[in-house]
Amino acid sequence: MDTFIITIDGPAGVGKSTVARMLAKELGAIFLDTGATYRAVTLAAMNAGIDLTDTPAVLEMMDRTAFNFKHDGDVLKVTFDGQNATEAIREPKVTEKVKFVASQPPLRSRLVKLQKQFAAQFDKVVTEGRDQGTVVFPDAAFKFFLTADSKERTRRRHEELATAGKEVDFDTLHEQIAQRDASDENRTISPLKPAGDAIHIDTTDIDANGVVNRMLEVINTKHG
Ligand code: C5P
Repeated sequence: MDTFIITIDGPAGVGKSTVARMLAKELGAIFLDTGATYRAVTLAAMNAGIDLTDTPAVLEMMDRTAFNFKHDGDVLKVTFDGQNATEAIREPKVTEKVKFVASQPPLRSRLVKLQKQFAAQFDKVVTEGRDQGTVVFPDAAFKFFLTADSKERTRRRHEELATAGKEVDFDTLHEQIAQRDASDENRTISPLKPAGDAIHIDTTDIDANGVVNRMLEVINTKHG
């Protein structure tokens, strides 16, 4: 069975998860948040006291740990060795360290395999991340690349954290997002960049509904 795949890539805080979830709902598709796979490995290594720069040790931990990504209604539930980590993987201490996993080719190739296996189980998937259109699903039916001004992305992330009861300083968050952009764009392996055939959407002045509507227009015009 060939899975119908739509990829959404873009920088931190651009709204990929929100939009992917909404678009998947509209299309009767499953959404995949690939950042969660990088975050899960990072947290599992931290919990096991593994030095994140020790790639063989992280690989070995991955071999003996059962990572599971499963939909529970609207939520992608993340567990490792049966332990629920859905919320813990979003903690700032994980966000800060995820680059060590994201920049290592052997770790990425394991996670890419896992992402492909996940997608293969379903008819239709909306997947979001940094390299979905370029590396993981280069033959996707539709590829979108979202951008937004970094102050606006910080505002969105700030609001999201506040809703979750976490107050953080705006300028510190802005600086962290800038650092994450730089690390995602400049790494040698699978850097954040649009696929040559990606459709770009600047979301600075459009809300999530507007972005989803624009995507649906594109999909329905070419596919419907
Ligand atoms: O999207 P999210 O903020 O959860 O991603 C966390 C981190 O995981 C990113 O900053 C990036 O370093 C890494 N990532 C990646 N490739 C993906 C998804 C996420 O390198 N496809």
